[in-house]
Amino acid sequence: MATANNGYYNIIGSMDGKPLTALAAVKFLGARASHVIAVGACAVHGGVSAAKPNPAGCVSVASVLQRKVIQLPGCPCHPDWFTGTLAHLLLYGDPELDRRNRPVMFYSQTIHDRCERRSFFDKGIFAKKLGDGACMFKLGCRGPITPIDCPIRKWNGHVNWPVGSSTPCIGCAQFGFPDQMEPFISYDVSKAEE
Ligand code: SF4
Repeated sequence: MATANNGYYNIIGSMDGKPLTALAAVKFLGARASHVIAVGACAVHGGVSAAKPNPAGCVSVASVLQRKVIQLPGCPCHPDWFTGTLAHLLLYGDPELDRRNRPVMFYSQTIHDRCERRSFFDKGIFAKKLGDGACMFKLGCRGPITPIDCPIRKWNGHVNWPVGSSTPCIGCAQFGFPDQMEPFISYDVSKAEE
């Protein structure tokens, strides 16, 4: 959320007749809630909102709260990751979290571990351009460094996912997205021919 200019770049409503900033709401509610869940990249680590040069001073929810925050990175966050976490809290209590407070039931394995094109990677067969049906590692795929379950969960009603449409993973569920995940694709064909 925005912190520059006292958070006034991110007004979400009004309270007591005055504009209510996201910064004020997070501080007010975050101090009183039984649990805090940061949903999506912007809430977890600043995401696109905090991309350079970040004129609004956007930061994570956790950085303004002195308490544990369950982290659900992703741009966007898959509905299942949020509803699954919420259901677990309601039915069983706190889900198991990793060292960065992500639920292990969703974030324990990298995309690369379960990718349908992994056999191409293991055999050294790489795509030279978008649309090729091989591993997209040399086009810049971020699957090897992005722990999330997209290959088995998929998107838009569990129909498909980026690699299934011959698009490299851009690491949207990894901390530091987007700045640290760029470039999203490399067209250096000579690299793919090495
Ligand atoms: S396409 Fe990406 S995630 Fe899939 S095997 Fe290649 S590098 Fe790994």
